[in-house]
Amino acid sequence: MFYWECGILGCERCGRCCISYGVSVTHLDIMRIARATGRKPSDFVAAIPDDPKMRAKRVVALIDGRRSVICLRWSRDCVCPFYTGSGCAAYDARPMVCRIYPFTVSWGRLVDSELRACPSRWRSENEAAYIADYKRYDGELEAYAVIVREWNRKGGSLEDFVEFALKKVKEETAV
Ligand code: SF4
Ligand code: SF4
Repeated sequence: MFYWECGILGCERCGRCCISYGVSVTHLDIMRIARATGRKPSDFVAAIPDDPKMRAKRVVALIDGRRSVICLRWSRDCVCPFYTGSGCAAYDARPMVCRIYPFTVSWGRLVDSELRACPSRWRSENEAAYIADYKRYDGELEAYAVIVREWNRKGGSLEDFVEFALKKVKEETAV
């Protein structure tokens, strides 16, 4: 179902989505979270094996020779490292994928996630904010895909990937 067919959600801050999924991140998400929390990316980033069955548009990086998606490192099974039980410890810098949840980007469109754990009812007043975040996310994903394509010509360790990605952020912001 497309977002314009079903309306737009209002978040009830129940936290269910923070304990249910792997949260994919881009180079810009990693930079924003590291700056906002003061934590080292190696403490909160992980490379999980790519699942080709996932419908969402995913950027796949070669990490130690394996096709991987760069995600937040779970603190335990499916629990986001920034989930506190009463909210997100990195809320202002939360990844773009969290900002658009329970939607996801698939083939350039914002669609309702098939795996949705969100209990919230649909409302329409947040539509403009979701669309703005979606557009921003789509742009950042495109930039991230370019960086990852360059990385994949050689590949390497997760640590080297993070260093490479953050160097690209600096280059982007210096332009
Ligand atoms: S980063 Fe924040 S909003 Fe995103 S899953 Fe983790 S706790 Fe939830
Ligand atoms: S599951 Fe839905 S209502 Fe709960 S925190 Fe996530 S987006 Fe908000």
